[in-house]
Amino acid sequence: MSESPSISHTTLEIDESSQPPVIITTTMQQLQRPLKHKINFHSAPNFSAFLRSPSGHGGGFLHNLIQRTTAHRQKADIQLQSLLNEPEESLPTFIRRASDHLGSEQLSIEQVSKLLHTQPFIIERLVRILYSSIDNDKDITTLSKSEVQKLTRILTSTIDVRALIFFMILAEKGNDYVTNNGLRQFYEKYLKHLKTFDENRLQEVIQVLLHKFHLDQKSQIDFEEFYSIVSKDSTLLESLSQFTVHPAWFIESSSIPSIKQNKFRRFFSNYYSQQKIYEQQTNKLTIDYIKDNLSRIILLILYLLINLALIIYVIIYRTIKIKSHVLVIFARIGGILLNFNCALIVILMLKHAILLIRTNKLLRKLIPVDDHIDFHKVIGRIIAVLAILHTIAHIANFGRLDDYSWATYMFTTKPDIGWIGGFAPLSGVILCVILIVIIICSMQWIRRGGYFQIFYWTHLLYLPFFVFLIIHAENFWKWIIGPLSLFLLEKIYSILTRYSSRSGRTYLHSVTIEQSNVISLTIHRPKNFSFKPGDYMSINLPRVALHEFHPFTISSAPEETDYLRIHIQAVGNWTKQVYQRFKEMSEDIVQENQIKIYRADIHPEESAADLKNIEQNHIHDIDNDDDNDDDDDGNVSGITKSQVKLRKREPVFIKGPYSSCARYVFDCKHVVLIGGGIGITPYASILSSLMAQCRASYVVCKHCDSINYSSKGLTGNRRLKKVDFIWVNRDYKNFEWFLNLLRQFEQEQEYYLASNSNEKRFLDIRLYFTEIKHDQNIGNVPLDLVTKIWAEIAGQDIFTNLKSKTHIGRPQWKNIFNELISGENASTANDVSVFFCGPSTMAKAIQNHCATFRFRFYEEKF
Ligand SMILES: Cc1cc2nc3c(=O)[nH]c(=O)nc-3n(C[C@H](O)[C@H](O)[C@H](O)COP(=O)(O)OP(=O)(O)OC[C@H]3O[C@@H](n4cnc5c(N)ncnc54)[C@H](O)[C@@H]3O)c2cc1C
Repeated sequence: MSESPSISHTTLEIDESSQPPVIITTTMQQLQRPLKHKINFHSAPNFSAFLRSPSGHGGGFLHNLIQRTTAHRQKADIQLQSLLNEPEESLPTFIRRASDHLGSEQLSIEQVSKLLHTQPFIIERLVRILYSSIDNDKDITTLSKSEVQKLTRILTSTIDVRALIFFMILAEKGNDYVTNNGLRQFYEKYLKHLKTFDENRLQEVIQVLLHKFHLDQKSQIDFEEFYSIVSKDSTLLESLSQFTVHPAWFIESSSIPSIKQNKFRRFFSNYYSQQKIYEQQTNKLTIDYIKDNLSRIILLILYLLINLALIIYVIIYRTIKIKSHVLVIFARIGGILLNFNCALIVILMLKHAILLIRTNKLLRKLIPVDDHIDFHKVIGRIIAVLAILHTIAHIANFGRLDDYSWATYMFTTKPDIGWIGGFAPLSGVILCVILIVIIICSMQWIRRGGYFQIFYWTHLLYLPFFVFLIIHAENFWKWIIGPLSLFLLEKIYSILTRYSSRSGRTYLHSVTIEQSNVISLTIHRPKNFSFKPGDYMSINLPRVALHEFHPFTISSAPEETDYLRIHIQAVGNWTKQVYQRFKEMSEDIVQENQIKIYRADIHPEESAADLKNIEQNHIHDIDNDDDNDDDDDGNVSGITKSQVKLRKREPVFIKGPYSSCARYVFDCKHVVLIGGGIGITPYASILSSLMAQCRASYVVCKHCDSINYSSKGLTGNRRLKKVDFIWVNRDYKNFEWFLNLLRQFEQEQEYYLASNSNEKRFLDIRLYFTEIKHDQNIGNVPLDLVTKIWAEIAGQDIFTNLKSKTHIGRPQWKNIFNELISGENASTANDVSVFFCGPSTMAKAIQNHCATFRFRFYEEKF
């Protein structure tokens, strides 16, 4: 919804020597719409009258105006006034029709500012520009529809007019000059409202602005000078071109009650049709869709065929051979399908087997391994339905039989049904109870509603469930023996490794409290713990919760042999406890523990301090302590020194590593790694790994100590040739989590490109922060302007100090994806693979765009 309908503007070019255009004929009175405080329009200049004056020189006012201003100001002034004089009927249709939805009520300044996505004080300034006679002491509190139309009209006009209006907003009373003080006051008010920069940065920013507009040397500049500075720089002109109003915004604002959504939707149908196309494309079973999902479709057909074959088998066997009652046939169909599906549900959770499939290119093409959890959930639901069918059929059948009462059949072993001591019906009842508990506790509102532990512990009922199922159903053991044995072997292996100091039992090295409730843990890496970039592991901090394991992506690179790093966002019970624990420990003056705790939330530079420290000192000093732990190193009041040391350590148990779809990154040619918030962790690991590989290819010249790259470099010996790293965060301060990594990679790449002039760029970083909405709206223009000026003067991004620009607002996926496949170094759609980890709504949008562009899409779900 970022593009506007194609709006054509009439640029009013006025040649001073020629006659003024005829359209400038209306008087200012025609514009008059009552503001809450009445405006005296008579004092506003009536250009038409002056321009039509018989003297041809415009009399007093125009004469003064021409003297006061030069070409650009004059041109813009005349255009502005002609627009103000335009009668309502002549307003462009798109403005009139869009503003229909505003209703006839007066709108408050706040409502208008929301509507136009800007700050109320800017709207006030705009109105005062339009109606210069309003007393400055008087408050403007409301605007009529026609005044909003008028604002829209002038802000959808030519760049000259918009430049003039922007200048007048910055200017102090009189509107002829922007002063040092005026600019400072405007930006202080504007940036403080945005709460984007702290006080120090804010003053730096203002200083840079003053410098750009020469206001550090002089006290004021006029429009001519302002215009010449802006127009020399295409990026600033581009910024000013965004100083406009998209009438589509009128409909977006839910704060305006009288908006008629449907009519407007019809009018701006081109915005919505795009969305519809995506929806249709993803829903339609097109050839492309089939091609993209071939393995899924084949497996689905196979699954259905197996179920169908089992049903046919039971029907034939039971009707022809045994001649069973129809209720028994139904019960048996349910039973045999339950056998198959209960075995399948276990296969879907064989994590090590899944890892093996993922690492094999051919196998993962044949088996859609990334769907295993979704498939597991679907099978769970199918099991519930089959269990109902099976149970009801048996219950009804027992009611039909005469030998015993219904209750005797159901709750005793007397009728001797089943293969172990007539236990089939009773075990069936127990199985139903277990299944009900598992199903209820697996529901979304328990799993995602803050009761994950209930889900986790009740899911362990799978073990008694399978035991009773073996007792209940004669043939079930044949189905389950293979999958369950593998599953139990995996579990035993996982338990053994988790308590072994070589692979799972370890301790914390250091902790960094990051911005926005995130904490990063640096964990001593067990010697046998090997993983790939993007893998995750489950960790347990027994001092926080004795038995809880939680999954976290490893954000460090496998090449970093001494430690593992994870970033944890405090979202629920356990993560908040972890955050709180270390935050309190960091405030503890008496350090009872051995962990170094950094406070990057207070001192951002500490975000990197931990890594630097590790690089310089290596964890080996602690390793050495490890080796000495067994030595007899003295005894203090019955406790050895090493025991004291161990107690001070923060123990950690880890399970894993487990693979994710991020493993495919290195098999792709061009990857787009997109992370939403903390969802960036898998891709941080990939970047770290790439950087480590690049550094490993250094060749230091023996003679001059200069560094060159061996053939490997950034792109050599690897299928992966291009990485687009896109990180979307609500608050730009969150970029701090991995800023050091991004900075290092940028430098690495610059150095690499400088010494390998034939190489293309390998990594492009795009950062988006969404706290401020809409990249292109009038409210963001002053900020956009300042970020561009800062980038030009400081050579860095204003928010992150990176070379890459931080974008404001949400990414426009369509434009971004278009760029990937157009231009000089474009890739073909077939080569582009998009990896995403983050909020599900964002995933849906990106997936839709990938379908449109025919990019491969992989999602990692937290
Ligand atoms: C593969 C994977 C990788 C992840 N990587 C990261 C990461 O790098 N950084 C990060 O901050 N978060 C990550 N998460 C999410 C993280 O595991 C949860 O935020 C954390 O477990 C929440 O626990 P809680 O008790 O604080 O919150 P709760 O309120 O109890 O749970 C919040 C949500 O987290 C999930 N969750 C809770 N406990 C578990 C558990 N034991 N196992 C699986 N899911 C659980 C549930 O879906 C729940 O709805 C990842 C999750 C997965 C599945």
